Amino acid sequence: MDRREFLIKGGAAAAMGLGASRVASARTTIKWKMVTTWPKNFPGLGTGANNLARLITEMSGGRLKVKVYGAKELIPAFEVFDAVSRGTAEMGHSSAYYWKGKVPEAQFFSTMPFGMTAQEMNGWIYYGGGQELWDKVYAPFGVIGRPAGNTGVQMGGWFNKEINSLDDLKGLKMRIPGLGGEVLKRLGGTPVNLPGGELFTALTSGTIDATEWVGPYNDLAFGLYKAAKYYYYPGFHEPGTILEALINKKAFEALPKDLQAIVLAACKVVNMEMLAEYAARNPGALEQLVKEHHVEVRAYPDDVLRQLRKVSREVVEELAAQSKAAGEIYRSYSKFLEASRKYTRISDLPYLQAREA
Ligand code: CA
Repeated sequence: MDRREFLIKGGAAAAMGLGASRVASARTTIKWKMVTTWPKNFPGLGTGANNLARLITEMSGGRLKVKVYGAKELIPAFEVFDAVSRGTAEMGHSSAYYWKGKVPEAQFFSTMPFGMTAQEMNGWIYYGGGQELWDKVYAPFGVIGRPAGNTGVQMGGWFNKEINSLDDLKGLKMRIPGLGGEVLKRLGGTPVNLPGGELFTALTSGTIDATEWVGPYNDLAFGLYKAAKYYYYPGFHEPGTILEALINKKAFEALPKDLQAIVLAACKVVNMEMLAEYAARNPGALEQLVKEHHVEVRAYPDDVLRQLRKVSREVVEELAAQSKAAGEIYRSYSKFLEASRKYTRISDLPYLQAREA
């Protein structure tokens, strides 16, 4: 507002018994940057970040304006956490397993191989004590993490050869992040982590033999079907991956209470919206992959899945033994998952089976 408008409003406020400075602060526009791990406007992930920024800007009536930067626009894809921690950007949109080198415990707030689904993750984070543990893990970095999207169950990945036995995983150089990568390593493969934007080139040039990304909607967008023929399921390594909003703690605490509430509420809205978008778009994208691009959709053989599950358990338990914090999170996570399994065994599981019968 200009000086004249300020003086008039200030005068009116003083007449009503309000301090002029309070009116001024309520009117100040705050500008935040949001850095992301995704290519700008990438379907689902990038647009989820856009939605989050747009919601915060709109819900605050423009008092808090958030501008989104795609991967490499301000910083590289995997430096989002550091950028938010340093305050280079006030917000970030990414997924917590990308920080495993710095914060191994963060992986629990992304996804676990053979772990919780999206619905269970939401239950654990919002009502099962998960958020409090997450806050504790990020506190030393001056960062707040919140769920802000979920992919649902992902696909296993893209391969140029069939996976008929465990031997087919040996020597396989595959892009697969988080603990899923560690599982592949134990079975003789070589996991690599690359930002999504580099997958297509890496797969076509032979830098990697296989890759996973997300699911039909996102994998179609990157054209991965042009680089590999076989599309395997299920994504045992990512059964309900949370996309996280990262918020610089100091910047958050400097906001008035109503803007703080808006930021947190917008995260919840986007968390729900993104999962709905995947549910709506994955089936059509899968049909397109099969009918137009002649992709061969295959299930991992049962014995391969059994071994993947066994090794996954070992890998998760080893992570839990790494630190006191990891142990505490693992106990909370496992307790929630075990209780949930007792119920899903007589609810979701038989229902989905009955629906197919
Ligand atoms: Ca993935």
